[in-house]
Amino acid sequence: MVTADDIARIEVLAELDTELREQLARAAADLTLLPGEYAVLEGGEQALFGLLAGRIEAVKTTEGVETVVGERQPGAIFGEVPITLGAVFPVGFRAAEESRVLRIDARSYHAVASVHPALVEQVGTLAAHRMSGPRGLQGIAANPPPPRAVVVGERFDPDCAEIRHFLDNNQITFVWVRPDEPDATERWGGPLPARADWPALRAVDGEAVARPTLRGVAELLELATEPQHDEYDVLIIGAGPSGLAAAVYGASEGLSVVVVERHAPGGQAGTSSRIENYLGFPSGVSGDELARRALEQARRLGAEILVTRSIDRIDPDTREVHLDGKDVLRARTIIVACGVTWRRLGIKADRLAGKGVIYGIVRSEAATTHGLDVHIVGAGNSAGQAAMFLSSHARSVTIICRGERLQKSMSQYLIDQLRTRENIDVFFHREIVAVLGEDSLEAIEVRDNRTDETSTRPSDALFIMIGADAETAWLPPEIALDDHGYVRTGADAQASGMWPLARDPYLLETSVPGIFACGDVRLGPVKRVAAAVGEGSMAIAFVHQYLRELDAVAAPG
Ligand SMILES: Cc1cc2nc3c(=O)[nH]c(=O)nc-3n(C[C@H](O)[C@H](O)[C@H](O)COP(=O)(O)OP(=O)(O)OC[C@H]3O[C@@H](n4cnc5c(N)ncnc54)[C@H](O)[C@@H]3O)c2cc1C
Repeated sequence: MVTADDIARIEVLAELDTELREQLARAAADLTLLPGEYAVLEGGEQALFGLLAGRIEAVKTTEGVETVVGERQPGAIFGEVPITLGAVFPVGFRAAEESRVLRIDARSYHAVASVHPALVEQVGTLAAHRMSGPRGLQGIAANPPPPRAVVVGERFDPDCAEIRHFLDNNQITFVWVRPDEPDATERWGGPLPARADWPALRAVDGEAVARPTLRGVAELLELATEPQHDEYDVLIIGAGPSGLAAAVYGASEGLSVVVVERHAPGGQAGTSSRIENYLGFPSGVSGDELARRALEQARRLGAEILVTRSIDRIDPDTREVHLDGKDVLRARTIIVACGVTWRRLGIKADRLAGKGVIYGIVRSEAATTHGLDVHIVGAGNSAGQAAMFLSSHARSVTIICRGERLQKSMSQYLIDQLRTRENIDVFFHREIVAVLGEDSLEAIEVRDNRTDETSTRPSDALFIMIGADAETAWLPPEIALDDHGYVRTGADAQASGMWPLARDPYLLETSVPGIFACGDVRLGPVKRVAAAVGEGSMAIAFVHQYLRELDAVAAPG
């Protein structure tokens, strides 16, 4: 319990009269922190902290890498910047050794400050000092850490594009050096690798690899690829919004959780330039920011997240899950959260995939369209978002739409936004019938589906967003699917005739008891981030119910 005497040991509070100190003592929380424990995380709500004993360090986390940027000794405060600016914590504060800290919430601080203006002045002066100067927050912002990787490779090399997309989706900052750039050698940091070795990647510590696989890239950059245990309470397939939500809830409720992601966390949502309809983000949030936060949250709560690993096979009887590369894990429950995959265009467009033809959109790709004429096939929200995003870089963006209007498939807010950009055009009643170019995309052939006339349009890049399909052929036959590969759950699983138990399946349970499905891969009408997050969280409630059943059966007597 914090006392008025404890309050007096904090330098800026020592001048307060006894009554105010007692008022603060009554409102203050008394925190005992073990080494490594956080008093407040980066992004935490404003509050004022005073250090009574021990040592606290200020920690800035960039791309999962923590840097200690300051320190507090007993008698000092922290939180002066957020409380002065009414903002969240720009850095986290954690115990460097066992420490005792008092925490005064913003409302109690302001109540005392209103009758003791000198306190506001003192705290404000300290805040100004912390923000300015090379060692202050300004200095930290002016000296961001160096990029974690440098990639050298050509624009139309699909392997190079794959590595760049992988780094992007894993939120690894990197520099892409094109071999024909005049300062390529300087940016790579020495003579370029031989052409046969492109793409090559160098990590920030200097180690370089030629033509790496994605697994190799992940390992070089110390992303987790190997499971730490043989058995888990919950194994989640896919780290999109639904899988990450399940990981957060599962890990926070004490279950051992592993997420297996074949590419990079974030899923489809991770590629969205701006999600405007997710609750709690009034001015929208980019998909990679949402994914970054969710990933950090899941990891902090103790979930293991493996990347560049995919599941080849599940044995429903033994609950063995076979990963690529022969690892076998056992899981008491499994959550299938593997989402959907972009539908292919056909018309032999894939021969130029990565060479100007791109499925979906990756944020880093936008900058490569600077000054170019690009096309988007598709008329859904993802196509609208992509058009808005690309229009800030490309010279022109043309949406190729089969129908006569966008209203059928795109939200009105996006249609309104598209109208505000002069370099966005929409071609209605048009279909792409061919992609032209030998080594890279040069033009597209477009047919008017009213007149059957075709025309050729020069094109520097073609983004294909014509919907997505569930890729579930690898699931065991015991898991009931609909005709399009979506996983049946709850009443739909029961209606399939494959449900084996006397009890009804839980809402998100597949036709195999203890295997659940959530998010876009599940048969259901809503394909949205909020629905995926909601279902991922709900799946864990059903996991608990199922595990209770298992334990009851296993209990003696
Ligand atoms: C460009 C774009 C913009 C969008 N904008 C919005 C928006 O503004 N608002 C909105 O509400 N929704 C939006 N959506 C839809 C939303 O992103 C999806 O509904 C949501 O991401 C579904 O989440 P999910 O976790 O079910 O699946 P996904 O996001 O598809 O994630 C599934 C994950 O599983 C992984 N995976 C697949 N198979 C395997 C396997 N065998 N082994 C291991 N891993 C596997 C995939 O790599 C992927 O990371 C958008 C979608 C796109 C593409």
